[in-house]
Amino acid sequence: MGDNREILGNKSDHIETCLFMNKTYFCPKFLQMTTNRTFTMIKPDAVENGNIGAILEKITSAGFKIVAMKYTQLSRRDAEKFYEIHIERQFFADLVQFMTRGPIVSAILEKENAVDDFRALIGATNPAEAAEGTIRKLFATDIAENAVHGSDSDENAAIEGAFHFSGREIY
Ligand code: ATP
Ligand code: MG
Repeated sequence: MGDNREILGNKSDHIETCLFMNKTYFCPKFLQMTTNRTFTMIKPDAVENGNIGAILEKITSAGFKIVAMKYTQLSRRDAEKFYEIHIERQFFADLVQFMTRGPIVSAILEKENAVDDFRALIGATNPAEAAEGTIRKLFATDIAENAVHGSDSDENAAIEGAFHFSGREIY
């Protein structure tokens, strides 16, 4: 793991191998590649518009279990790191500005086939193209201020969850 932290209890309970970029690493158990967890944020626009409760209701009614959750605000550095894959895009500065302008709710969600099912529940990036009944169709303003984030792969779900939560904040 690259540090000297003590491993509590039975090593096999806490450390698993996981695959990342085609290499096998030792990883904390919560970073395991699983197909049943995804990471989400209720973005600042949806929080400002008073939609936290309605969005959580859609999420839990769709069968997702909340295994970690916090109400927090991203720093500029957090947002730049979280969305670094988009650093070359012309909207990057606006995206960082938007994601840091107010509090968000971040959460790890569990359900069979979580990543794909959650992307289906939130709908297309642009709410104008999102299917009826999806969270973005109901709550997003436009392609930039689109109410929620959803991880796009199991690998990114694990990375994003670990970016926001420590192992003992995940249940
Ligand atoms: P997210 O990663 O937030 O779940 P997504 O996977 O549907 O969204 P991405 O292509 O990863 O879409 O874009 C990340 C975010 O950047 C979008 O959710 C949106 O907030 C913003 N964004 C994407 N495309 C545009 C655009 N053309 N103009 C302005 N903002 C955009
Ligand atoms: Mg994305």
